[in-house]
Amino acid sequence: MKQDIKSLNQKELEEVLLSMGEKPFRARQIYQWMHVKHVTTFDEMTNLSAGLKEKLKENCELTVLKQQIVQRSKLDGTAKYLFALSDGNMIESVYMKYKHGNSVCISSQAGCRMGCRFCASTLGGLARNLSPAEMLEQVYRIQEDIGARISHVVVMGTGEPLDNYDNLLKFIRLISDEHGLNISQRNLTVSTCGIVPNMIRLAGEGLQITLAISLHASSQEKRLALMPIANKYEIHELLDACKEYFAQTGRRITFEYSLVGGVNDTAQDARQLAGLIRGLNCHVNLIPVNPIEEGRYVQPDTKTVMDFKDRLEKLGITVTVRREMGRDIDGACGQLRRRQIL
Ligand code: SAH
Repeated sequence: MKQDIKSLNQKELEEVLLSMGEKPFRARQIYQWMHVKHVTTFDEMTNLSAGLKEKLKENCELTVLKQQIVQRSKLDGTAKYLFALSDGNMIESVYMKYKHGNSVCISSQAGCRMGCRFCASTLGGLARNLSPAEMLEQVYRIQEDIGARISHVVVMGTGEPLDNYDNLLKFIRLISDEHGLNISQRNLTVSTCGIVPNMIRLAGEGLQITLAISLHASSQEKRLALMPIANKYEIHELLDACKEYFAQTGRRITFEYSLVGGVNDTAQDARQLAGLIRGLNCHVNLIPVNPIEEGRYVQPDTKTVMDFKDRLEKLGITVTVRREMGRDIDGACGQLRRRQIL
């Protein structure tokens, strides 16, 4: 099998080059072609000798995603991309333009095995984990496509990032590497459905990233009805892990709470939620659910959403309501991919 060199850090790449009888500075050159200039072929690495380029083609894989579809919103500049991986699997990524910078939402797996009831990305199960290179490439291809620097990355697309822990960690270190794209870790957000042991592991990695927790419920019972992962890790265990994460990293936790009409959007839910997270240094992001099957889960009306927000605020919780973007280019997360593979 060819060596996946875009998933390696500079030191590891150097070792590969040394084993091919090359000098260390070649690794620095190749690393820059891949991670700064984002070339898509070895032939474009013009400061390498013809002989070295041949050796690289023979022994190494240069992971590049193929853009299959792009849907651009006419309303707000949001764009959804469908990329093909080299084995034919498809993944989805989203570009969002904000006042504070250009943000990309990436997938961490092809498919997902977490089974959240309201989520389109998990309906076909997990195909496979993405490599660090495949995660990086989503950002690189989008940056090249829009012709402007990406400053923020959220790992909130298809897949459970903490179910692909080692590759996620490599990705985080590569994308924040000063010799690579050099995205500040403070501008990186990883969203998890709550794989507790890996949250604790992540807390000890010495990172400055933001951890977002998909909470979505105000009690263990209600969470269980929406998210099978709650069978494995009980809601209080999850909240304890959040406390631990904050204690170790000093990074404020984000809780994502998808408001589902008639399911988790009552005044009592707001009170219980506030009770659960009181005292934690955190912030709640309310997301009116994107319906994936007609009728099953519906968005609450705007008044219910605003009432829920006000109640939390009165109870001392910092809250935002996620602004819906790209309304004209396909409903919920994971739906572009799903339509293509069915
Ligand atoms: N597996 C990770 C990251 C991917 S999902 C996680 O669970 O956090 C990213 C976010 O989108 C999660 O908060 C998820 O619960 C939410 N989400 C998924 N489907 C949704 C839908 N139909 N409507 C609203 N939010 C949804």
